[in-house]
Amino acid sequence: MNILEIKNVKKSFNDSTLHVLKDISLTVAQGEVVAIIGPSGSGKSTLLRCATLLTKMDSGDLLYSGDYAAKTNEQGVSVYADKQQLKKIRSRFGLVFQNFNLFPHFSVLKNLTDAPIQVLGRSKEEAEKKAMALLEKMGLADKADAYPCQLSGGQQQRVAIARALAMEPEILFFDEPTSALDPELTGEILKVIRQLAEEHMTMVIVTHEMSFARDVADRVIFMDGGVIVEQGDPKEVISNPKEERTRQFLSRFA
Ligand code: ADP
Ligand code: MG
Repeated sequence: MNILEIKNVKKSFNDSTLHVLKDISLTVAQGEVVAIIGPSGSGKSTLLRCATLLTKMDSGDLLYSGDYAAKTNEQGVSVYADKQQLKKIRSRFGLVFQNFNLFPHFSVLKNLTDAPIQVLGRSKEEAEKKAMALLEKMGLADKADAYPCQLSGGQQQRVAIARALAMEPEILFFDEPTSALDPELTGEILKVIRQLAEEHMTMVIVTHEMSFARDVADRVIFMDGGVIVEQGDPKEVISNPKEERTRQFLSRFA
């Protein structure tokens, strides 16, 4: 069973004059790690935003473990499932942004326990136990009572990852998780994601870290101009691309 299925997604902005996603299809199997690479403006964030229900697709289908979040009607327009169904689907994925997006007025611990208590109906005790185990795993157990502003960018991002994991998602999405970090802090985030990959967490990661994508991903997707230009085995796509556009993009990282 595929954890995520995206079929024929189209998305445009500015009264349909700017076509940002042009018929993108993508499936992600359980335990698979997919890296999405591509130039700025190619539609990577828009694709993640459509997949995570932050942006509505114009047309296309979106399914999580076979359950529809949206499907295309006869007029070729995406029709979304009802509120109840979307709520259920939202609890199946986690999303980690470039800019951490922690709740600034909550302690680290409360950042991790709030949604499990409010959304999943966990007891405070249960949520805190799970949160402490996750902070331990991230090497941040001693920061439980700190506030986000008291942490480094790398620490904040690890809290953001722990917060996403606290919801026990079936799939995690990352949108350039290291782009806002100083180079010396990038490694600590990549290490955490690498560890999650070893534990077979299903993940979709938009990244400019090519050597990381090559080492950790099961599949790499190269996007440009709102289409998937090329995809496949990371070693093939990154070290031996078939398409000229992919070669040109990768030459910037050589
Ligand atoms: P990437 O993440 O690959 O850099 P984005 O998905 O952020 O690309 O953006 C793709 C294109 O869509 C860009 O031209 C961007 O300006 C445009 N775009 C993204 N979001 C919006 C929006 N809300 N309104 C108008 N244009 C947008
Ligand atoms: Mg982006």
